[in-house]
Amino acid sequence: MSDEAAPYKAMMEGLRACFESGLTRSLAWRSGQLDAMKRLLEENEEAIGQSLASDLGKPAQEVLLGELSLLYSEIRHARRHLKRWSRPRRVRTPMVGQPGRSWVQPEPLGVVLIMGAWNYPVQLVLSPLIPALAAGNCAVVKPSEIAARTADLMADLIPRYLDPHAVEVVQGGVAETTELLKQRFDHILYTGGAAVGRIVMRAAAEHLTPVTLELGGKSPAVIDRDADLKSAARRLIWGKCLNAGQTCIAPDYVLVTPEQRDALIQAMAASLEEMYGSDRLNSIDYAKIINQRHFQRLKEYLNNGKVALGGQVDEQAERIEPTVLVDVQPEDPVMSEEIFGPILPVLTVDDFDQALEFIRRRDKPLAAYLFTGNRQSERRFVDQISTGNLCINDVLMFMSVPELPFGGVGMSGMGQYHGRAGFDRFSHLKSIMKRSRFPEITIRFPPYGPLKMRLLKLFG
Ligand code: NAD
Repeated sequence: MSDEAAPYKAMMEGLRACFESGLTRSLAWRSGQLDAMKRLLEENEEAIGQSLASDLGKPAQEVLLGELSLLYSEIRHARRHLKRWSRPRRVRTPMVGQPGRSWVQPEPLGVVLIMGAWNYPVQLVLSPLIPALAAGNCAVVKPSEIAARTADLMADLIPRYLDPHAVEVVQGGVAETTELLKQRFDHILYTGGAAVGRIVMRAAAEHLTPVTLELGGKSPAVIDRDADLKSAARRLIWGKCLNAGQTCIAPDYVLVTPEQRDALIQAMAASLEEMYGSDRLNSIDYAKIINQRHFQRLKEYLNNGKVALGGQVDEQAERIEPTVLVDVQPEDPVMSEEIFGPILPVLTVDDFDQALEFIRRRDKPLAAYLFTGNRQSERRFVDQISTGNLCINDVLMFMSVPELPFGGVGMSGMGQYHGRAGFDRFSHLKSIMKRSRFPEITIRFPPYGPLKMRLLKLFG
């Protein structure tokens, strides 16, 4: 064993011993951990706000909206339903299995790994940890090293509030994560880009560990002919500017007909003014770009098409003004990769059919948005667009519903969590059947014959 691997191996042995002790199976322990997580948040809101302001320039209101509120709501929901979720789930036993009973018994998986991304560095480690603990697992949490100050805070707070025998935090970058991924976990939930997603899945394959990959992609927004442009513009601008566009489900680009385009841009200009005033680059209500690498990547996109709104940058402060691009070509770099920043290309399509075709020809997105007042368009969008999550007449807000499973499909990820979907994700749904010994129905046993065959066809 290499020297680097030794601490991880010891950590895993400790966690396995804790899991095998049965401690995490009791409902009292599980709800106690959820309460402790709530306390962790409540007692440290200020420190969390400060670390997020330092890493991302996150305004306090966005800390509440994008990180804390979601966590409080997930904790509340899990706490309320924990007992029901963990109970045996009775299912119907067909005639051939009578007399007998059948049920599904959720059981914890064991030791799970949660790897977070930097853009919502509190929410993305804690919101998977809620169902992991609610389901009775031990967990290793690996915050993203890119949001360094928040990662340090998580590493400080988690062992102080949560059971240190059951939850460990591992800090570090590529070298440490590579070593960590050599360990055998019972599940890995990874949030981040697809390139590292492949690395995680490859490492997991060594141990046949199942994975949940929460990836990203280009989430489209379609403006239907009869959409309310003012409302659509306001909601799109909010969804794109929240966390300076560094949101996995942010609307990535907009599709609109040529006749509506200019009115939409005008409405967006009004919304920007309304929300951020005229000096938007320096607005205190607007986050910064995480680092120079991402700043430079995003700055390059400003050369695609034509800037219709915004376009200013401050290299030193790593800030990019909310920017709307027009006349962008589908082959341009800004349309080839997920933008993950405050730049919104508005592309024109002839009609609704062309918009659907445009989306369907590309990778399945993490989220898809439609602004419409037409029930038929709504139905066609829902039926024809395959996407992780879908929202009509708004963006992002589906995240506030704990009972909506969250996750991608195709290139935007695999597996879902939040609410009960999260509890089930971190559980093995063990199926159980119990037969009575009497009466013994013998039609399944040899010797076979025409009468048994007829009865089997009738009752099988
Ligand atoms: P990141 O750089 O923070 O990486 C994510 C995790 O992978 C981190 O814990 C990091 O330490 C680890 N990592 C990085 N390189 C590694 C390597 N070579 N080997 C092993 N581990 C490694 O995040 P990112 O990839 O920049 O995240 C941005 C992407 O995440 C975007 O595509 C975004 O859409 C997506 N995202 C998805 C969700 C979701 O819930 N689906 C949420 C947020 C972000």
